[in-house]
Amino acid sequence: MIIRYERNGKTKHGWYVQEENKVRVIEGDIYKRTTTKPVMTGLELSYEEINVLTPCTPSKIICIGTNYKDHAEEMGKQVPPEPLMFFKPSTAVIGNGEEIVYPKQTENLHYEGELAVIIKKEARNVKAEDAEDYILGFTCAIDVTARDLQQKDGQWTRAKGFDTFCPLGPAIAPKLDYNDLRITTTINGEVRQDSNTNQMVFKIPQIIEHITSVMTLLPGDVILTGTPSGVGPLQPGDEISVTIEGIGTLTSRVVKAE
Ligand code: MG
Repeated sequence: MIIRYERNGKTKHGWYVQEENKVRVIEGDIYKRTTTKPVMTGLELSYEEINVLTPCTPSKIICIGTNYKDHAEEMGKQVPPEPLMFFKPSTAVIGNGEEIVYPKQTENLHYEGELAVIIKKEARNVKAEDAEDYILGFTCAIDVTARDLQQKDGQWTRAKGFDTFCPLGPAIAPKLDYNDLRITTTINGEVRQDSNTNQMVFKIPQIIEHITSVMTLLPGDVILTGTPSGVGPLQPGDEISVTIEGIGTLTSRVVKAE
C-alpha cells in the first residue's frame, strides 16, 4: 500500500509492508506513471524511521452526499436523481492518527465514514467506462460534519469545511474491488456503521463521469463517495476508527478547540 512520508527533510512515497513493519522506497513520481504498479528503488526503511504524512495533498476534495440508500432513509431524504456534489477545502485534510478539532461554533458534530478515491492524472470529461484509468487508488475518510450548521446554513461550506474535517488514510490501496467492500465505523471501539460499498446509489465510475463533466480533477484530488447509515455525534475525547476491507483502519481522536 502506498504511503507518503517525510524523512531527513524530504517527502517521498513508499510501499508499506505491514507484516514486516517496513517501507520500500518508491522511485519517482507516482502520479506520472502509466501504470499503478509502483517501481521500487530497492531501498527499505523501518516504519519507525519515517514521519508518515497525509496520503495525498489534494487541490480539492469533492464529496458526494446521500449516496447510500440506508443513509438517505435515516436522514429522511430522497436519493438524488444525480450525484449531489459539495466541496471540502484542501486545508481540512489530516492524516491517520491526527486529531479532529471540535469547533466552538457547533453543538452537534457528526462522523461519516466513507471510501475515498484518489485521482491519478488530470481528468476532464471522462466517460464512466474509462474512469478506472484515472484512479490512483482508494483510502478511508471521515466526512466530519457540523450537523447543526449544515441545517442552519443551507450551503454546506462551513458545516463541512473546518480545519481537520477530512481525515484521510492510513494508506492508498491501488487495486480494489471497490463495488464490494465492507466499511465499518467504530466510536471508542463500539460499532456504529457497518455496511458495504455495494449499497452505493451512484457507483464510482459514474461519479467520476459526473464530476469531470463539470470540473477538471487534478492528480491527488480526492472524491468522498458518501456514507452508509449509522451516522451520529462525536464528543471531545472520542476515538473514531473507519475500517475498509482491503485498505486498513483510519483512526482519529476528537479534541476541543482551544
Ligand atoms: Mg458525507
